[in-house]
Amino acid sequence: MGAPKINVVGAGVQGLTVALILQKKGYDVTVIAKYWPGDLSIEYTSPWAGADWQAMASNEDLRLQKFESDTFKVLWKLSHLRPKETGIIRVPSVMYFDEKTENTVDPWWKDLVPDFKIIPQEELPGSAVVGLSHTSVCINTPHYLKWLLSEFTALGGKVRKQFLRHIQDAADEDGSTAAIVNCTGLQARYLGGVEDKKVFATRGQTVLVRAPHFKKILTHQGKDYVTYIIPRSNGDVILGGTQQHHNYDQEPDFGTARAIMERTYKHFPELTHGKGIEALDIVRQNVGLRPTREGGPRVENEFSKAPSGKTLLITHNYGHGGYGVQTSWGSATAAAKLVVSGLSQIQGAASDVHGLLDDLWSKL
Ligand SMILES: Cc1cc2nc3c(=O)[nH]c(=O)nc-3n(C[C@H](O)[C@H](O)[C@H](O)COP(=O)(O)OP(=O)(O)OC[C@H]3O[C@@H](n4cnc5c(N)ncnc54)[C@H](O)[C@@H]3O)c2cc1C
Repeated sequence: MGAPKINVVGAGVQGLTVALILQKKGYDVTVIAKYWPGDLSIEYTSPWAGADWQAMASNEDLRLQKFESDTFKVLWKLSHLRPKETGIIRVPSVMYFDEKTENTVDPWWKDLVPDFKIIPQEELPGSAVVGLSHTSVCINTPHYLKWLLSEFTALGGKVRKQFLRHIQDAADEDGSTAAIVNCTGLQARYLGGVEDKKVFATRGQTVLVRAPHFKKILTHQGKDYVTYIIPRSNGDVILGGTQQHHNYDQEPDFGTARAIMERTYKHFPELTHGKGIEALDIVRQNVGLRPTREGGPRVENEFSKAPSGKTLLITHNYGHGGYGVQTSWGSATAAAKLVVSGLSQIQGAASDVHGLLDDLWSKL
C-alpha cells in the first residue's frame, strides 16, 4: 500500500507550509488551489503581507504564543541558513504603543527574540507611551511563497490549479483521498461545506516603495490607527497601513495612501534621505484582505461522510488574520499533527505525531 493521499486546499503561506511538512513526513500530498505564488488577487492574501515577525499573541493566549514562537525559531534559522533562497532577512525592529497594557509592558516573547530592550521614555516619539526593540525577521512573501512551493515540488509534492465550490470536491473521485486540509483563508467564509461566517476581512492598505538603503522594522500602534514599515529582501519596502474590519473594498484610497506616507516618513525621514514624501519611489499601491476570525484561527479536525459513505477527515487551518506568516510553521505543524492523529482515529491505530517540526528543523 502506498503512502496515504492528502489533498491540501490552498497555496497561501498556510497551505504550502502544511503541504511541505506532510510531504516531508512521507505522505502523498497534492495542493489544490485557484491562486498560486506569482498570482496577485484580492482573494489571495499571502502575497500582500509585509511581512515581519512582531508578536501579536496576548500574554494569555498560549495557543497563539506557541504558533508564533515555533514559527520564529524556524524563520530565524532560515534567515541564517537560506536567506537568498527564502527572501528572509534579519533586521532591527521597534514597536511603539500609545497604550500601556500587560502585553506591551511585560510581553511574553521578551526572552524569545534576540536583543530585546525597553526603549527609555525620553526616546519615545509623539504619542507613544511604551517602546520595545529587538532583532526580528522580514519575509519577502512573494519570494518566500515561491520557495515553499519549490521545496514542496522538489520532494515530489503535486499541484492542481482548480477552483472548488465545496470542500468535499477536494477528495478524488476514486475514493483514494485519506484527508483534506482546508487552508482557504478568507474564502472559508464562502466555500461550500464550510461557510464559516466567523471569518471576515480586515482590510489592509499599503504603499510599496523602492528604498534599498532602508532596513528597519517599525510598528506604531495608535489608539485608532497603525503605522508600520517592513523592508523586503529585494530592496522594496512596505509602508502601512490600515486595519479596517468587515471592509472588502479592493481599490486603494489615495487619501489613505498619502496619510500612510506622511506617518511613516515622520518616523523615518531617511526613507527618502530627508527629501520629503514626494521623493518616495512608489512601486505600487496595495490592498489585501486579512482573514480575521472571531475566536482566532480554526485549527481542528472534522469527520465528515464522503458521498461514497466513507469517513473523510477534514483538517481545518484557516482564519489567521494579520499573523498568518508569523504563525505559519507553528499552526501548520499543529494541523499536520491533527492529520496524523485524525487518520489514526479513523483506522483505529496509534498515531505518531511527535517530532514533526523537529524532524524538519534538523533537515533544514
Ligand atoms: C497588508 C497586510 C499585511 C500583513 N502583514 C503581515 C505580517 O507582517 N505578518 C504576518 O504574519 N501576517 C501578515 N498579514 C496576514 C497574512 O498575510 C495572512 O494571515 C496570511 O497570508 C493568510 O494565509 P492563508 O494561506 O491562510 O490564506 P491565503 O494566502 O489567502 O491563501 C488561500 C489559498 O486558498 C485558495 N482557495 C481559497 N478558496 C478556494 C477554493 N474555493 N478553491 C480553490 N482554492 C481556493 C486560494 O486560491 C489561495 O491559494 C498581512 C496581511 C495583509 C493584507
